[in-house]
Amino acid sequence: MNTATATSTPGMNHIVVVGNGIAGQTACDSLRTAGFTGQLTVVGDEPCPAYSRPALSKALLTGAGSHELAAPAHGATERLGVAAIGLDVTARRVHLDDGTALAFDGLVIASGARPRRLGKGALVLRTLDDALLLRERLDDRPSVAVVGAGPLGMEVASAAVQAGCEVTVVADTEPMRPQFGAYLSQLFTAAATAAGVKIVHGTATGLDAPTVIVDDGTRIVADLVVAAIGDIPNTEWLEHSGLLTEGRLVADARGRVAPGIVAAGDVTAVPVRGSVRRIPLWNSAIEQARVAALALVRGDAAPPLDAAPYFWTEQFGLHLKAVGHLPVPGDPAFLLGDDPHRPALLHWRHPDGTGVAVALNHRIPIPKLRRAAATGQVPGGSA
Ligand SMILES: Cc1cc2nc3c(=O)[nH]c(=O)nc-3n(C[C@H](O)[C@H](O)[C@H](O)COP(=O)(O)OP(=O)(O)OC[C@H]3O[C@@H](n4cnc5c(N)ncnc54)[C@H](O)[C@@H]3O)c2cc1C
Repeated sequence: MNTATATSTPGMNHIVVVGNGIAGQTACDSLRTAGFTGQLTVVGDEPCPAYSRPALSKALLTGAGSHELAAPAHGATERLGVAAIGLDVTARRVHLDDGTALAFDGLVIASGARPRRLGKGALVLRTLDDALLLRERLDDRPSVAVVGAGPLGMEVASAAVQAGCEVTVVADTEPMRPQFGAYLSQLFTAAATAAGVKIVHGTATGLDAPTVIVDDGTRIVADLVVAAIGDIPNTEWLEHSGLLTEGRLVADARGRVAPGIVAAGDVTAVPVRGSVRRIPLWNSAIEQARVAALALVRGDAAPPLDAAPYFWTEQFGLHLKAVGHLPVPGDPAFLLGDDPHRPALLHWRHPDGTGVAVALNHRIPIPKLRRAAATGQVPGGSA
């Protein structure tokens, strides 16, 4: 550990991290790797240790694997089951819902996001508790209506089909088209339909549990309704902090939101290709947290965020790994294979010159996928 770096950050003795998800955990690890030897406290409102959120819909619901993460080695003091309810930037204090406050020299805001809700009676999937409840309900093989046809909704639909349920998806666009683009949307929609999923086009305007009401008047009656209609960043505790711009927490390319305060992960909007927006993805949360932690202890000497996003999904027998900015326009060039149902490597080039590489059913390592995205060529070696 480089202790010289720690002592070269004057006045940075206690760093508080709010949020015990992957961004919070990565920030703690990265601070230690950067040589911060001072006091570290992580506050998380979920009572359990951090876990893999993507594994909830892919592994926990289907029984295909574990959602657990390796035990942390950063030595932070954990305040779990406790929520931050306020931030006083001037006094440099975080107020907690157990009536205590934490004084800090540096602060990492990593409070993530929560699901948008459809109404009472619809389940959501964000936390471990949500996933355990949903898995238990799927065990009874109910008929399921999934509202929302983004990657999360379609993964839930896939898990429900696998559990033997009859599944209807209410989709206000072609499934995953806004996230992936038309080509990949059609591929995954065809796989879902072939697996027996019924897709109802329309916008759910309400829920009269167990009936979903669609804007064209269609009423879908199901034993179980799951809403996957997007997320809302957890910024309420920052409401009086002065850090929000029109309700958004906006960070610079190094994750900085104020002197000695950085943010990372789903809670924050960052500069991306000429705009400022959230990138609510697992690997983006990790990369943002690494950059933000370094910026907290090294300032401008820390490198800015520049990695192309990485995303993956598994559903209806298709495995997708993507590097680059989705959605993609038009049809791809096939770098490997010629059938998207078999192992294949696809490539698109955006008008601004940036590339996107998508591996379908292919075990290509992520660094090679990154090279394929940048070059538009098959990287050497096992790919
Ligand atoms: C089911 C599911 C599947 C997904 N699959 C994929 C995928 O395949 N690929 C992909 O790239 N991404 C996927 N994602 C998205 C990915 O999981 C998130 O982008 C990532 O977890 C964000 O991490 P984070 O640490 O920023 O936020 P979070 O994981 O939300 O962690 C924030 C933590 O802070 C806590 N918190 C909130 N407010 C407070 C407060 N005031 N005080 C204290 N603690 C607080 C929250 O409860 C939470 O524990 C998936 C998400 C879900 C829900």
